[in-house]
Amino acid sequence: MKEETKIISTIWPGRDNSTATTINPPIYKGSTVLFDRFEDMVKAGQNEYEGITYGTDRLPTQRQFEEALRQLDGASLTRVFQSGIAAIQGALMAFTKSGDHILICDNAYGPGQHFCRSVLKKFGVDFTPVPPNASSDIEQYIQDNTVLIFLESPGSITFELQDIPKITEIAQNRNIVTILDNTWATPLFLKPFDLGIDVIIHSVTKYLSGYSDVLAGSVSVSQKYANTFSKFYNIMEIYTPAEECYLALRGLHSLVPRLRYHEQSALTIARYLQDHPLVDEVLHPALPTHPEHHIWKRDFSGSSGLFAFTYKQDYSEKKLADFINSLRLFHLGFSWGGCKSLLTAAKVKRATPCRYTGKTVVRLNIGLEDCTDLMEDLENGINMLK
Ligand SMILES: *Cc1c(COP(=O)(O)O)cnc(C)c1O
Repeated sequence: MKEETKIISTIWPGRDNSTATTINPPIYKGSTVLFDRFEDMVKAGQNEYEGITYGTDRLPTQRQFEEALRQLDGASLTRVFQSGIAAIQGALMAFTKSGDHILICDNAYGPGQHFCRSVLKKFGVDFTPVPPNASSDIEQYIQDNTVLIFLESPGSITFELQDIPKITEIAQNRNIVTILDNTWATPLFLKPFDLGIDVIIHSVTKYLSGYSDVLAGSVSVSQKYANTFSKFYNIMEIYTPAEECYLALRGLHSLVPRLRYHEQSALTIARYLQDHPLVDEVLHPALPTHPEHHIWKRDFSGSSGLFAFTYKQDYSEKKLADFINSLRLFHLGFSWGGCKSLLTAAKVKRATPCRYTGKTVVRLNIGLEDCTDLMEDLENGINMLK
């Protein structure tokens, strides 16, 4: 055998018995997947081959992560995407066509709404924002061509909850597909299929992967829509890097203890803020003062580590910056759900009436630091405002 041939033929070890059963699956990377026989290749061309045919046909690391999430969500089918926003875009495209109309709750992830305004609209899909605390009143927004309702409960900036069972009951009667972005609660604290939701979206980037080093998203679908979504996903040939699936699967192993810790710390800090003389309102669904607390109590089995608060006074940008820049443990950065505590602050802008409009909402991602240290950090920072 010539050197040129050896280089190619020995890199692939072929089928040997040297593989080990590791707890997390290996990272499979590849475009070409080799067939054993020509007959298999012919079958693959006719969509009749049972095995994996190509890199975009979901290699084993991806498939294992999808299977783990599918079981957690209790879904008929789960597919992963290269980010949470890609999962939102994919789900919206899969279930709409030109001439359709969709409803989106007004506290849903901003870039998803932006996609509707600037891309879906271009393809003839119209959308109406509905109040973030929508319930049966959603009926008044439904048109003859409404095919989809997109919910996020609680919304990840102002934390209003929708009454999911009331909305899904109306939707089911009219054959409208309901999608819920469940990133905040994760499969641990909310079971959306039990409340009549058809499609669940997660930004895997957040708690599911858990360490701020992964970008991924997922779409889990009930039996009724599994076939439609599976076909769409195949046609789009979406590729989620195996490293991300590997890390997400690894993160999933520690989801329960992480979330329980985030939950307890966030509640302790939320209660501390609630008692603070300069704080007006703490936006956390598990607090009895939250306007939709009764819904949280009825539908959710826990709360995660992301919440927000407002001040009684409207501070100048400079004052706010003094407060924020003085913090040592709360870092500045987008996204959430990781180990480090993070803060964002912005004035709320909304399409529908909202009592926080024009107010500065300070949002905290409570990480895995000790919560007494976090409270001390906040106390010192808030003192800058006096
Ligand atoms: C972050 C986020 C997304 C988008 O996730 P990416 O993976 O960052 O694209 C979607 N929905 C919610 C609620 C989010 O917080």
